[in-house]
Amino acid sequence: MLYFSKSKYCGLWQCPKIAWLQKYKPEEMCIEGDLASRLAAGNEVGDLAMGIFSDYVEVTAYKGEKLDLPKMIDNTRIEMSKGTPVICEASFVYDGLYCAVDILRRENGGWAIYEVKSSTHDDKDVYYADVAYQKYVLEHCGVNVTGTYLICLNGQYVFNGELKLDELFRITDVSESIKCESDQIEVLIESAEVMLESDREPELDLSARCRSPYWCGFRGYCFRHLPKPSVFDLYRLKFDKKLAFYKQGLASFEALEHSVFIKNEKQRRQIDFALHERGTYIDRQSIRKFLNKLSYPLYFLDFETVQPVIPKYIGTKPYAQIPFQYSLHYIERDGGELLHKEFLAEPGTDPRRTIAERLCEDIPMNVCITAYNKDFECTRIKELAETFPDLSEHLLNIRDHIVDLIEPFRSGWYYNRAMGGSFSIKSVLPAIFSDDPSLDYHNLEGIHNGGEAMNAFPAMEKMTAEEREATRRNLLKYCELDTYAMVKVWEELRRVTE
Ligand code: SF4
Repeated sequence: MLYFSKSKYCGLWQCPKIAWLQKYKPEEMCIEGDLASRLAAGNEVGDLAMGIFSDYVEVTAYKGEKLDLPKMIDNTRIEMSKGTPVICEASFVYDGLYCAVDILRRENGGWAIYEVKSSTHDDKDVYYADVAYQKYVLEHCGVNVTGTYLICLNGQYVFNGELKLDELFRITDVSESIKCESDQIEVLIESAEVMLESDREPELDLSARCRSPYWCGFRGYCFRHLPKPSVFDLYRLKFDKKLAFYKQGLASFEALEHSVFIKNEKQRRQIDFALHERGTYIDRQSIRKFLNKLSYPLYFLDFETVQPVIPKYIGTKPYAQIPFQYSLHYIERDGGELLHKEFLAEPGTDPRRTIAERLCEDIPMNVCITAYNKDFECTRIKELAETFPDLSEHLLNIRDHIVDLIEPFRSGWYYNRAMGGSFSIKSVLPAIFSDDPSLDYHNLEGIHNGGEAMNAFPAMEKMTAEEREATRRNLLKYCELDTYAMVKVWEELRRVTE
């Protein structure tokens, strides 16, 4: 029998091949770090939203580590017959179609479905498909569905010290929006039945639905036939345009090399350098002009941030970026020693005031600071300045003196093949210093990227003293490498212009 859950149905709705791959090639699924932390965020939001209508009964049951679906269905039936007003994870099955309703609420002589999403957007078609599927299952189980709602996070909610669930969450009636989705359910499930019976992989080429790496874990598998590099690696080209080239048979750089449609100079260089031995392209004059904007004492700054889905610091909104760490290398004078300062907040505390004060202590006013892709650092500093008006003059002075070290790379003044059309520090660094193990993020312990740092800091709150100390060391090493990398990149720019 065909078995579906609401997430499997949503997978099917987004791309039939996802459902087939989930059944026949689950080992090809690649959950990237971001996806895993989004799933964790979804659980946190779901747990909190259960309390939105005050008293509730949750019917979740486990058999070992797995959900005990028959028990959950039984529990639901019992709670409904008792007249329980709010049932969380209310579970139903109809002809192999299973669903657990996040919140089922007795309303208007029937039952209303409330689907919880950790997003701040309530207008995504896939959400409507999700709710429509649940309504379909419940109605076929004989439930009188009297309402269908989405509960999303209110992106404008500002935490004032006491979490107010009725303000944090926004409830949207989606009864109208799900109507057209409802008509498709049977057709979709019938076609899935035929497709999933066969072990022959559906012939489904890449399309617009493959755009996002965030929700499909099978991109690596479906893109595997492409040459490396391919049109999908091309610098700054919209996915739809990449797809259009691909559909015209222009997937490889060889095919693209003479295309009159590739007009962007940086894209042309990316293709040319990938296909031919060109060494390093250097526009000395432009790099010199850039370097002349820098002056001593010269600072190199990088932040690490956390992004709590549920705001936990006063004055912040859901998903606000909160800096908790920085690394700062600096050189006082030309030929001077490379010095280093750093800050890492205590886990479990609001890091903002301390980090703002330390920044003002560590960076004098009116000095030259570099950041790599500076918008991020500038925005965080501006937010700190707004939060702490007494430090605002100094903080804004720091912000106004930041020069973006990515500029020579993003502007195409320095390029080599190994950059592969990406100008992030994580691409530029190994492309310039391929043989230096001290500059290789892979050689770090525990923390190798910003996502891991973001997860590690809140996790420290629940660690033993020993684990916490090890994580602290790893975080410091990681952030230090970020600014040391910037110093090395700056030295390289100086070297090539000497
Ligand atoms: S990569 Fe595209 S075709 Fe492959 S499963 Fe995902 S959405 Fe479907």
